[in-house]
Amino acid sequence: MALPVRHSVAGPAIRRTDPSSRKITYMSDLRPETRSVHHPRPVLDQSHPVVTPLYQTASFVFADPDEFAVGMTEPDGAYVYSRLGNPTVRALEDAVARLEGGVAGHATASGMGAVSTVLLGLLGAGDHMIAQSTLYGGTATLLADLTKRFGVSVTYVPENDPDAVRAAVTPATRLLYLETIANPMTQVADLPAMSAAAREHGLLTVVDNTFASPVLCRPLEHGADISLHSTSKYLGGHTDVIGGIAVFADGDVYRRVWAFGQELGATPDPFAAWLVLRGMRTLALRVERSCANAAVLAERLAAHPAVAAVHWPGLPGHPSREIADRVLSGFGGVLGFDLAGGSAAASAFLSKVRLALVAASLGGVETLLSMPTAASHRGMSDEELTRAGIAPGTVRVATGIEHVEDLWADFAQALDALDY
Ligand SMILES: *Cc1c(COP(=O)(O)O)cnc(C)c1O
Repeated sequence: MALPVRHSVAGPAIRRTDPSSRKITYMSDLRPETRSVHHPRPVLDQSHPVVTPLYQTASFVFADPDEFAVGMTEPDGAYVYSRLGNPTVRALEDAVARLEGGVAGHATASGMGAVSTVLLGLLGAGDHMIAQSTLYGGTATLLADLTKRFGVSVTYVPENDPDAVRAAVTPATRLLYLETIANPMTQVADLPAMSAAAREHGLLTVVDNTFASPVLCRPLEHGADISLHSTSKYLGGHTDVIGGIAVFADGDVYRRVWAFGQELGATPDPFAAWLVLRGMRTLALRVERSCANAAVLAERLAAHPAVAAVHWPGLPGHPSREIADRVLSGFGGVLGFDLAGGSAAASAFLSKVRLALVAASLGGVETLLSMPTAASHRGMSDEELTRAGIAPGTVRVATGIEHVEDLWADFAQALDALDY
């Protein structure tokens, strides 16, 4: 019997994109709306598909053991194993890196995967970091754990106080950690002033840019060294995938984090990366509509007698309005509002809405509602909640892309049914 043509040996190993080619050249002239649609596509054979293919494979075939060794240890070696690198995942990394203006991206299995890969990859026992005091719940828990179990100390500062950063620096300080827009009171970090203070002392600035998305803010342009996202939110955009990514201004910092990322193993499945790439193509349109919906809801909620306060950086009285004008190109799709009737009114409101869904997450096409005291900030003491500005009657709205009059009709009937 004739043996089949030998297929177990690949042709010349295919190298990942040369890192120098990932520098922002002509792409930097394009606006984010265009960059989210047009991104580099991997060419692995002679076909040139419009859409990045899904390389749903764990391993890649090898002829040359040296290529294999380089692929195991270098982020730009040949593809050998999908935990270390995969063409679909790499296409996502390149796309977000270009969108954010970075030299490289490192995709992860979740947003928390990005936060923990970056922090554990850059910090060691005995190190100190500075973080803003209002943090995403999962990140706050991680920092508490880093302190308790890994000997990393943390000093908390307001998101708009560069002098507090200067005062907190010790010889052991390695980095400053910020969030562009905080949850749910929507404070906006003064990225230029805060990262400048960090740079004076040789600290890296890491920014969680999830709430802004690269459409509204690109932290590297404001002096940050790393910008990271939960791609489960605006980048994915359809509430159907969990993922994360970190984008780097500097290639050496990227290589350190990439190497640790292989140890931690929080790298994404190719299909998850493919879904995020697909979602990204409509990112700019979705963010634009989400912000426009938030603007109308914020204004009408503020005028409703059942509502005691509205928190959205686009409102003239918001404490971050001046920073938002400098740092953001839109005010975001997340807003908080406090019901005058307290937690009973907030629960009643959530039980009366018919269109908006009561669910965790944000940045998807559908409007989602949550009560921070029962969800993201559950477990905080009354004192901690007061310090974070969260009232018993606070409701968080993460706007989707529905018609705003349908959303408002839903909100209005639920508000009118409350006895405030
Ligand atoms: C959701 C979120 C995260 C965590 O992302 P996951 O994908 O859920 O792990 C981190 N930071 C912010 C600001 C988020 O909204």
